[in-house]
Amino acid sequence: MIVKVDGLKKKYKKDWVLKGIDIEVEEPQIIALVGPNGSGKTTLMNCMTNLLTYDQGEVELLGQKNSDTKIFKDVSYLQDNRILYGTLTAYDHLKFICDVQGLPKSKIEEVAKRVGMESYLKKRVQNFSLGMKQHLLLAMVIINDPKVLLMDEPLTGLDPTSAIDMRNILLELREEGTTVIVSSHNLDEIDRLTNKIYFLKDGALLKESLEQFATKEYYLTVDDLEKAKGVLEEAAVPFLIYNQEQVTFEETDVELQTV
Ligand code: ADP
Repeated sequence: MIVKVDGLKKKYKKDWVLKGIDIEVEEPQIIALVGPNGSGKTTLMNCMTNLLTYDQGEVELLGQKNSDTKIFKDVSYLQDNRILYGTLTAYDHLKFICDVQGLPKSKIEEVAKRVGMESYLKKRVQNFSLGMKQHLLLAMVIINDPKVLLMDEPLTGLDPTSAIDMRNILLELREEGTTVIVSSHNLDEIDRLTNKIYFLKDGALLKESLEQFATKEYYLTVDDLEKAKGVLEEAAVPFLIYNQEQVTFEETDVELQTV
């Protein structure tokens, strides 16, 4: 099993923010965790990667249990709030990771080429656009060729070109056998990336993923839409259906409606 999350529960003080999460991944693939802000996506990823302790349940990545090891081997995590140092170059950031992880320096050029940042590898980060920063952050987490890659909201705020680049690289990684877990508060962002979507709401997963209802690119047939409605309504997931075809999330609790 590549990823196994079994009955994971987490509380902050008295508030349960994860209420029994189960995720299983057997084949390398891209998995999306989609839910509104505050639904528990970051907490779940932090618990899965041992940055946070949790109260109940079990996490196993690549056959290693949380309890067995502090740092998972072959697992990388791009946190939402990862810091870059403006006065350092992209090269400096990548070299630091090579030094810490004992990787050969040849990996720097290799990964720069892969994410398309060769032209600004030696430039200081302070002048980078958000898209360039996100390329560097991605390079920093894939330079070690992880088998499992978790990314918290990697597509948020990216311009369309950078978002397409990011999607293409993630699809390439999956082709090479990396399992990628991506979170997003916006289903549209996940479009064309995967149809394995776990919906999260108030710390609980929707019982069934939308996978079984979704055809290519998540556009639902009208028949499928009727079935999807039932599942989503039952779980009280706030969402809006528009064009009678596509499902998206809204920040606020929106009544189910067709437009
Ligand atoms: P998401 O990533 O989906 O936006 P989070 O995992 O950040 O959700 O937050 C889930 C819930 O846990 C929210 O209600 C948030 O306010 C709460 N929370 C997150 N971090 C803390 C913390 N350090 N202490 C107390 N509550 C927290």
